Amino acid sequence: MENKPLITVIGSINMDMVTMTDKVPVQGETLLGESFKTYPGGKGANQAVAAARLGGRVQMIGKVGNDAFGDELRNNLNKEGVSVDCVEASNVGSGVATIILSDNDNRIIVIPGANNEVTPEFVKKYEQNILASSLVVLQFEIPVETVKFCLQLCHEHQIPVILNPAPARKMEEGDWIKATYITPNETEEEDLFSHLREKDDVLSNKLIVTMGDKGVNYIKDGEVRNVPAYKVNPLDTTGAGDTFNGALAVALGEKMELRAGLEFANGAAALSVQRFGAQGGMPTREELELFLK
Ligand code: ADP
Repeated sequence: MENKPLITVIGSINMDMVTMTDKVPVQGETLLGESFKTYPGGKGANQAVAAARLGGRVQMIGKVGNDAFGDELRNNLNKEGVSVDCVEASNVGSGVATIILSDNDNRIIVIPGANNEVTPEFVKKYEQNILASSLVVLQFEIPVETVKFCLQLCHEHQIPVILNPAPARKMEEGDWIKATYITPNETEEEDLFSHLREKDDVLSNKLIVTMGDKGVNYIKDGEVRNVPAYKVNPLDTTGAGDTFNGALAVALGEKMELRAGLEFANGAAALSVQRFGAQGGMPTREELELFLK
């Protein structure tokens, strides 16, 4: 175990509170819904769990609240085999997402809570843990200054970084350039990088654009290459991107070639969309290897 490459995810940990209803209330209306359930989530935690299920040695750096959700979120990571030694409890409440789902509508409010306390100062406490990593994975559900700080630290120490720019946040070119790979979906690519299209430079060469059932595009030798998605019948695409990023981290940590890594990640994501839930749908290494055979 100790000599397996260490993947460090620095990011958000949330509790998703999902209310299912036939009908969404209009202003001032109260109605009886169908069901309510909580699911551990947050892009950081989701990507950590995806990587751990696929056999990665994973540590999470983040914050939960000093509350019942915080305990549950930390226990969940631990149960998935993710090290929570660098997950602290904050006096601000756990990050939560309130999700209202009906057949033809979904409404989501995210309260970052403790995730906003994942500051550069907090992360600095765990600098040695970061420097021990083979690969670092970042997203934008923690403060942007923290993402910039981690990019700089990893750049100085030549630790590869996968930056999943979700939700889309703007940074200077000098910050983006410190990531090894940047993995927007199509909407994020449109928001952040459409000016790079047709360009063949250092930054555009870092982009890995996920495109749902169209698979993923990347640039090699100045040309756009596509790795097609696997043809499956999707049931719930929540967490497809998180599964993809966690899987890519495992692949690159194991020094797979980029294209093979993208096929591995597409396979993991294709399995995840056939099952309900974000973490609920993430495959194990065994399941993925069987699928890819
Ligand atoms: P996000 O969930 O972040 O919006 P995408 O929708 O681009 O990201 O999905 C991420 C990856 O998940 C895709 O690149 C693909 O590998 C896989 N995926 C998503 N939807 C499907 C689908 N309908 N069929 C097969 N693979 C899918």
